[in-house]
Amino acid sequence: MDSPEKVTGARREAPPHLYLGTPFCRGVCAFCNFYKTDLRTYRRYFGEEGRFADAVRRELDLWMPELPARLSTVYIGGGSPLELPDGSLLTLLRDLHRRFDLREAEITVEANPSWPADRAALESGLINRLSIGVQTFSPAGLSLLHRDKIPDPDFLNRVGALVENVSMDLLYDIPGMGESVVRDDLERALAYGPKHLSWYGLEITSENYRRRLPAPDPAAWEKQRGILEAGLGAAGFHRYELSNWAREGWESRHNRAYWECKPYLGIGPAAWGQAVDGEGHPFRYLNTRHPGFWRDAVEGGKWPREETERLGTRELANEFVFLSLRTTEGLDLGEYERRFGEAFEVKFAPALGRLNPCFIKENGHFRLSERGALYYNTVCADLMIVEEPA
Ligand code: SF4
Repeated sequence: MDSPEKVTGARREAPPHLYLGTPFCRGVCAFCNFYKTDLRTYRRYFGEEGRFADAVRRELDLWMPELPARLSTVYIGGGSPLELPDGSLLTLLRDLHRRFDLREAEITVEANPSWPADRAALESGLINRLSIGVQTFSPAGLSLLHRDKIPDPDFLNRVGALVENVSMDLLYDIPGMGESVVRDDLERALAYGPKHLSWYGLEITSENYRRRLPAPDPAAWEKQRGILEAGLGAAGFHRYELSNWAREGWESRHNRAYWECKPYLGIGPAAWGQAVDGEGHPFRYLNTRHPGFWRDAVEGGKWPREETERLGTRELANEFVFLSLRTTEGLDLGEYERRFGEAFEVKFAPALGRLNPCFIKENGHFRLSERGALYYNTVCADLMIVEEPA
């Protein structure tokens, strides 16, 4: 791994996709694997009105003069941005609209499933996509998730009139929650008319939390996923990524850019980003997670970096494989050869022989079969390059 000084000292090329991290939540949920903290912490470090927006402005200034004039997508999340106090989100949105040409941009903000504190930001017309974290409509499920954000039917019925492009995030395979909960969640989510649905199997990484949950049913994941595939297909949604379904034309442009390995600018505490330095080397970085240290760095005119890694052929090829296999188009064989100088089918011939039932080869692409989609992690593990090419 290169030192941050070596990489961040180089001139950069900023991409037209912006992720703005706001890892401050109104109550922290037990199942969540992202870095996050609460609104008290926000007040501790950004107590004076406008201080957070000013810090974001300063971080963007560090990228000058390479910032593009126009952004394709903006994604604000990693917490509850609409719950930030003192109209902070509205200030941020106004700043971004002043600084960039966002007329054609997809501008997504994450939201809880109820009327937010910053209703003015929601009604400002400065957002055109809302990603609402529902997780489940089941009170028992929410209690297992230790999640106090109860879906509010009034909000969910009326929010589509304010922001046309509404997406909902839900979970399946919650231990102790059977198929009837998934069917009920499906029916209720569809009744609110979202354009897009992200539906992930619950992944538990904390042993402490796992111990407090009912025993998992090893067959639940596959059965519940089958219910979703059938139900969402019948309702006119198509799956375009392992866990994402949309009505035609309403796929997430921001997430697509990520799955297509396009670079994106990460701003704010705990934000990941990927860009290209002045010597043409791609690099990935993680911004300082601690909000106070992030603030101090940007207010002092320094890059707020916790990790910076220059990406070589091995990292880029691995990323290309595991991200493109998430999409329903699959891995573009010509593109793989163009980027990495060798044919995918030759390089991975033994693994592809073993994994034969997991793939469909079609139109110059390798995509996962239904079976392959069930074993995505195992398939990818078999296709990772672990040694640097000689
Ligand atoms: S799920 Fe959302 S609201 Fe809950 S802790 Fe994670 S980021 Fe915060």
